[in-house]
Amino acid sequence: MEEKFSIDRFDKEELYCRKLGHHLTFDYCRSEHNGLPCPKIRDCWFEKIPIDDYLEQNFKPEEIAYIFETPKPKIASIFEIIQKAQAAKKSS
Ligand code: SF4
Repeated sequence: MEEKFSIDRFDKEELYCRKLGHHLTFDYCRSEHNGLPCPKIRDCWFEKIPIDDYLEQNFKPEEIAYIFETPKPKIASIFEIIQKAQAAKKSS
């Protein structure tokens, strides 16, 4: 049978946050985004806790859809910057 995880089940778990540069506990991560989970929560926590089951059991899919959106690949934005720089050079 699938285990049920309450919303505060992992609150005391700790890890190093690469965004903030220090250790913090899960209770911060699950409410960092205006009371909803930090967009990085799956990347940061998947090795420590069953994060997907936890999210599924405690949040509505539409509430946390932003967590599953794939960010724009970095290479695409770098390419845009180069194109803009080249265009600016040509016009000067
Ligand atoms: S989930 Fe967000 S706040 Fe929590 S450790 Fe990761 S980046 Fe930091």
